Amino acid sequence: MMRHNCAGQSKCHENLGEEAERQEKLAAYWQPLDGQPMSVQCLLCPHLCRIAPGHAGICRVRVNRGGKLFADAYAKVTSLALDPIEKKPLHDFLRGSKIFSVGSYGCNFRCGYCQNWQISQQEAAWQRIDPEELIALAEEEKQHGNIGVAYTYNEPLINYEYVLDCARLAHAAHLKNVLVTNGSINSEPFQTLLPYIDAMNIDLKSWQDSFYKHFCGGARDPVLETIRSAARCSHVELTLLLIPGLNDHERDLASLAEWVASQDPMIVLQLTRHHPDYLMPRPPPITVERMKILADVARKHLHTVVLGNI
Ligand code: SF4
Repeated sequence: MMRHNCAGQSKCHENLGEEAERQEKLAAYWQPLDGQPMSVQCLLCPHLCRIAPGHAGICRVRVNRGGKLFADAYAKVTSLALDPIEKKPLHDFLRGSKIFSVGSYGCNFRCGYCQNWQISQQEAAWQRIDPEELIALAEEEKQHGNIGVAYTYNEPLINYEYVLDCARLAHAAHLKNVLVTNGSINSEPFQTLLPYIDAMNIDLKSWQDSFYKHFCGGARDPVLETIRSAARCSHVELTLLLIPGLNDHERDLASLAEWVASQDPMIVLQLTRHHPDYLMPRPPPITVERMKILADVARKHLHTVVLGNI
């Protein structure tokens, strides 16, 4: 099966019309706001958005309608593919296998260099695929070597309810669950999801919190907390997308690798090369020579450091 988005397919939302719009999913993890009638606060991620009626949170997919929070991207699939596990990227998890990969739209970060901005920073054409149908498709793909479901392409955790529903069904069908995420989620919802997740690749965008604030519209420490708890009960690998001059300082990389090693020195760190995209046409990609120097810095602390996208 090739990766595709659903533009032009018969079940796209343009064609589903009112039927799809009626299939609303109430969000988990929110509360009414005291003293602000009909306004709510989303408790899913560290942004803790306060959302007035008729508006969405920063991620654009959690929407206040009539004083209730709805998960608007639920079962809206923009991309499906049977990918090599190494493409997630996972280096040391069921190497050589393939995994059925699913993406939606939206993100709770605003990375100016986003490599997937067409689905993360705007709504894209989608096809409705309910959890039961997704898992049935994933089971069909077993004949082509599929080992499970990967929640990827855009940030999956903002579509929390869908990931949780699919992950439960996947485990019941003896399929693995893989999460590819920026790791920006609050502890309580993450702890509920974690028992269903077999492997994760978490983006660690920089060692500097200021990088998170300035370039991503997020914060570093909640991501470290996600890594800390995930490493206790799931296979965890990390990806650092290197951007020359912005997050490739040797001292930062040494600190990052030292902290990761303090959690588990066997955690795989993948250093990957960005390509100029979205709002940042510069700088040009980092050189392979520079990546090798940085990998050697990280290897002083970590057992496995690999280079990607070179
Ligand atoms: S998940 Fe979305 S709506 Fe909820 S706090 Fe995060 S950005 Fe805001």
